[in-house]
Amino acid sequence: MTAPDARTAAIDIRKLSLTYHTADAPVLALSDVDLRVQRGEFVSFIGPSGCGKTTLMRVIANLVEPTDGSITVNGMSPEQARLQRAYGYVFQAPALYPWRTVRRNLTLPLEIMGMAKAERRARAEKYLALVGLQGFENKFPWQLSGGMQQRVSIARALGFEPDLLLMDEPFGALDEITRDHLNEHLLRLWERTRVTVIFVTHSISEAVFLSNRIVVMSPRPGRILEVIDSDLPPDRTLDVRETAAFLKIAHRVRVALRAGHSYDD
Ligand code: ADP
Ligand code: MG
Repeated sequence: MTAPDARTAAIDIRKLSLTYHTADAPVLALSDVDLRVQRGEFVSFIGPSGCGKTTLMRVIANLVEPTDGSITVNGMSPEQARLQRAYGYVFQAPALYPWRTVRRNLTLPLEIMGMAKAERRARAEKYLALVGLQGFENKFPWQLSGGMQQRVSIARALGFEPDLLLMDEPFGALDEITRDHLNEHLLRLWERTRVTVIFVTHSISEAVFLSNRIVVMSPRPGRILEVIDSDLPPDRTLDVRETAAFLKIAHRVRVALRAGHSYDD
């Protein structure tokens, strides 16, 4: 195994399309998607339900095959990337084992990978600390709030030390205050680790706050409408959302989303 060239794109998608073959009619979920994500970027995908955001994440994670076009993940095929555990996946629901402690939730997948016990425990401790959950190792998931459970999921995904973090609406089910808090937390985490993040959200404000690029998608068939750059200061806090620079980017995202809709919201 050779280390991928630092200049290799984290994700390189060319003319990718995906059709689901269902019992009734085929569903064109993604059409002609072209995108390159560099290492260390934080890229958000935003678009209405059904526009193919989860499908695109599943293609990157090698959970589904594209019908047309090509994709590489860290310079490898998605299958190779999956086999090398080059990415961590965080879903909307925390998906923790309720009957295992927080520590066990982190160490179990590492044990399955064949990692030695001391290393597993060290990783669990390191990443729980990184998401601010030191001291909660022996709790069970049901003893934690929804936001804390989601932080455990993030720590678990980081435990693989992936180059790439795939996050599919990870904070969608949380209240706004918790979501704000976790947004700040995630941004600090990204600054520290510089892991490449692909983040799916419905929230314009969340996308603009977190990302250095925002990919706006249109429904039926899912395609990229516009890619918007954001150059907010790296050490930003939630207050940035009141600034003219932030509102300007949010406005551009909103206009792009409207252009892809057949209705106005
Ligand atoms: P999003 O995450 O943006 O809400 P999805 O990627 O889940 O969108 O879905 C995109 C489209 O593909 C939708 O029309 C959805 O109904 C369809 N779809 C998703 N998964 C499947 C599947 N396994 N089989 C058939 N159609 C699917
Ligand atoms: Mg989805």
